[in-house]
Amino acid sequence: MRGVIVPEARRVAVREFPDPEPGPGEVVVRVRMAAICGSDLHWYREFTPGRTGPDQIVGHESVGEIAAVGPGVFLPRVGDRVALYHISGCGECPACRARLPKECWRGVERIPQGADADYQRMKSWNALPLPDAFSWEEGTVLACNYGTGYAALKRGGVSARTTLAVFGLGPVGLCTVQAGSALGARVIAVDVVPERLELAQQMGASEVVNGSEQDVVATLRDLSGGRGVDAAIDTSGNAVAQTNAIDGARPRGTVVFVGIQPEATVEIKVFEQAVLKQLTLAGSWIYDIDEWPEMLAFVQQHRLPVRDITGPTYALDDASEAFAVADAGRSGKVLFAVS
Ligand SMILES: [Zn+2]
Ligand SMILES: [Zn+2]
Repeated sequence: MRGVIVPEARRVAVREFPDPEPGPGEVVVRVRMAAICGSDLHWYREFTPGRTGPDQIVGHESVGEIAAVGPGVFLPRVGDRVALYHISGCGECPACRARLPKECWRGVERIPQGADADYQRMKSWNALPLPDAFSWEEGTVLACNYGTGYAALKRGGVSARTTLAVFGLGPVGLCTVQAGSALGARVIAVDVVPERLELAQQMGASEVVNGSEQDVVATLRDLSGGRGVDAAIDTSGNAVAQTNAIDGARPRGTVVFVGIQPEATVEIKVFEQAVLKQLTLAGSWIYDIDEWPEMLAFVQQHRLPVRDITGPTYALDDASEAFAVADAGRSGKVLFAVS
């Protein structure tokens, strides 16, 4: 089978790998569609041994059909449509037994094999059921980015009473804008890329703020009657955005941090704001496995156009071009039509 590799920084290649066989408790998925995530771009930009290399298939967002199941697997069954939940754990500790592998007591594990390939091997519980009502495109967006935005909105207590600022309008930010608007919140979207501000408006943002042209904090205050926003969600991981999120929040407001940038260093001074304004600061990472059916029901009930988050689609053999387009950060989510 084919698999996409990043043998060195900013170089992508497609090479042949042996077809995977499922071990005990594992399944093999025939990948129909995969996508490039912001976290894949970190490892594309900066070579990271263990994450990238000639033998490491990249990617962690995929959907497809179960092609084979290993010994001991009851569900899913061969032919079932599934989406990848890409965090794994030991499977035995109390957190894993509570279906919270991202809190595994023995350390979070990566799925054994990357998603940008013809077939993908994973533990059976990493394959979440994807109902027929959802297209492969929708499933690919929901599997990582949408779930991340959805869980962050819950963490921020966002409702129809909320004026919400969303910082960073990559795919996770756009999902957050769309789902936040569906919750009834007034959403103010913040980024520095005009194309992405335009996409945010299409996703339902009431107002957009261009951080390269406007004073973000002053604008957020103006738009909220001088007080500051009720909640802010940062999906960028950028230190300026994180600081603006704290500065732009109202007293007793909530700030949720979703994005991570390894080099980001927020001035410790901003925490003075957190104290004086009595803010609630929260971190949010992906979503819980048990939130998957709840999120699918939410998307269906509100008929949310999840597909609008997507940008161009590439064949797996054109992975090099796909990564370059995703790296430029001006389009919607970049997808691979695999088979
Ligand atoms: Zn992802
Ligand atoms: Zn565990």
